[in-house]
Amino acid sequence: MEILVATHNLHKKEEIQQILGADYVVTSLSDYDLNEEIVEDGDTFQANALIKAKYCFDKTGKASVGDDSGLVVEALNGRPGIYSARYAGNHNFKKNIEKVLSEMKDEPNRRAYFITVLCYKDAEGEHYFEGRIYGNLTTEVFGEDGFGYDPIFVPDDYNQTFAEMKAEEKNKISHRSEALKKFLEFLNAKGGVI
Ligand code: IMP
Repeated sequence: MEILVATHNLHKKEEIQQILGADYVVTSLSDYDLNEEIVEDGDTFQANALIKAKYCFDKTGKASVGDDSGLVVEALNGRPGIYSARYAGNHNFKKNIEKVLSEMKDEPNRRAYFITVLCYKDAEGEHYFEGRIYGNLTTEVFGEDGFGYDPIFVPDDYNQTFAEMKAEEKNKISHRSEALKKFLEFLNAKGGVI
């Protein structure tokens, strides 16, 4: 049972494969030579996830998944949100972090969450799955691992940033894995992909 994921990122493909398990074969854009850039111009995480899933489904007719993730900061009215990847104008993680930390300077409310919205699309329609992890932002960077905003986010009930945690430990509790687990439950209940 194949699921096409709208990504070129092998790491993302592997993480999804691991969670879905051996009953599903996860493929990606590279397996179909789909190399054009998908324009993510939606104004919500849901809209962007749908754009990606629909692109794959329209091109191949395969059951497809698109996902969109980001960091939502309460004191910044939800920013960087859907702009998380390019918050400082590019895909530079370090600059994005610097921008968030400088906007949060002297801000006592450090509440934030990561969110992933996953859209599954097949011939029958679309379904959405959401995962969130709540926590607090630090005032400086801690840790070397991970990516994106990991070095400035401490999940609730932990005293380390995501970048200080082992990947397996983060993956157990992350927004992405929560959304994927909900998706897997849906697939299993439905009896797999058509
Ligand atoms: P994407 O939709 O998975 O590509 O995520 C968009 C952006 O959100 C990334 O470029 C990161 O800046 C941020 N982001 C999403 N998930 C995480 C995470 O688990 N840790 C840190 N940053 C993340």
